[in-house]
Amino acid sequence: MKICVLPGDGIGPEIMEQALRVLDALRGDGFDFEAETALIGGCAVDATGTPYPEATSKLAKAADAILLGAVGGPQWDNLPREQRPERGLLAIRKELNLFANLRPAILYPELANASTLKPEVVAGLDILIVRELTGDIYFGQPRGIREEGGERVGFNTMVYSESEIRRIGKVAFEAARKRGKKLCSVDKMNVLECTQLWRDVMIELSADYPDVELSHMLVDNAAMQLVRAPKQFDVMVTGNMFGDILSDEASMLTGSIGMLPSASLDANNKGLYEPSHGSAPDIAGKGLANPLATILSAAMMLRYTFNLEAQAVRIENAVKKVLAAGYRTGDIYEAGTRRVGTREMGDAVIAAL
Ligand code: NAD
Repeated sequence: MKICVLPGDGIGPEIMEQALRVLDALRGDGFDFEAETALIGGCAVDATGTPYPEATSKLAKAADAILLGAVGGPQWDNLPREQRPERGLLAIRKELNLFANLRPAILYPELANASTLKPEVVAGLDILIVRELTGDIYFGQPRGIREEGGERVGFNTMVYSESEIRRIGKVAFEAARKRGKKLCSVDKMNVLECTQLWRDVMIELSADYPDVELSHMLVDNAAMQLVRAPKQFDVMVTGNMFGDILSDEASMLTGSIGMLPSASLDANNKGLYEPSHGSAPDIAGKGLANPLATILSAAMMLRYTFNLEAQAVRIENAVKKVLAAGYRTGDIYEAGTRRVGTREMGDAVIAAL
């Protein structure tokens, strides 16, 4: 199994080191891997003049999976748009055709106080949002701003083909199969034809997944239900724009950005795995960053690209144990728990494995 490792900028290298140590500890448990490291983001700009160098692209294409830390930082904020670190991320997602974005929002019972919602509403929350990432109104043509009747008119096009809906639907049904077997498809079929087609295709597809219970929800209601009673959801699937908004809403239910992993997959389950947070320049290099989102991203990689469910669960259970034992980095610290740094948190997860 070939893993392309892209630590990136800021806290990226520190958190990546811990994730690789955890993967190393699993070697031999039906799992072995080769890891090669390359540059992306600001460090790549400094070394080569571009945020996604050719050598990185070559390595990423040849790998089975990519594990990424984070990119960006204030020292690169004034560069021309093409050279910004974040461009590196957009480029790799596009080049590898990563159309399915999977974002779990899990709130471990021990961290229920980190949420802005009442603990009883969110404790034990475990949602997976599957967002389509390469289509919809963000890419649809025609688009623009034109003159019409003496004023400016802005317009975009919401468009999905049947095949695009089907391929994201499959990812969502498969993911639901690996979890609680409940899938909620989110659309706006009462006013948008495009999402009427979305709903029709999801219903057709459900015939292939009789073991998964499919339901539908309008996006406005979904936004409301996510804060009213989020634990009713298992897997949610939706288009690019609705998913953009709902996945941020869902992740913030947990209140702990250092805990949230993500995956972006292509049609063959090749994936890019990364924490949902950024490069945290304010704490970079200090050994304070929470490595758990990156460690949990590595667990997602084992589950979705390598089909190693048991090993993924081993990592997730180790994280649960560490939290139950009271280990906390600064971002999730509360009185009465044990404050640790990045490496100590890695040590604790490895010990729990
Ligand atoms: P951020 O997620 O980096 O940080 C927000 C806050 O959360 C900061 O206070 C930070 O210290 C804290 N934080 C984040 N991750 C943490 C962790 N693992 N442990 C402990 N605390 C953590 O967001 P930002 O400050 O808006 O952005 C900083 C840089 O990161 C910017 O250059 C931005 O463009 C970039 N960024 C990159 C990605 C990515 O690589 N996918 C995503 C978002 C932002």
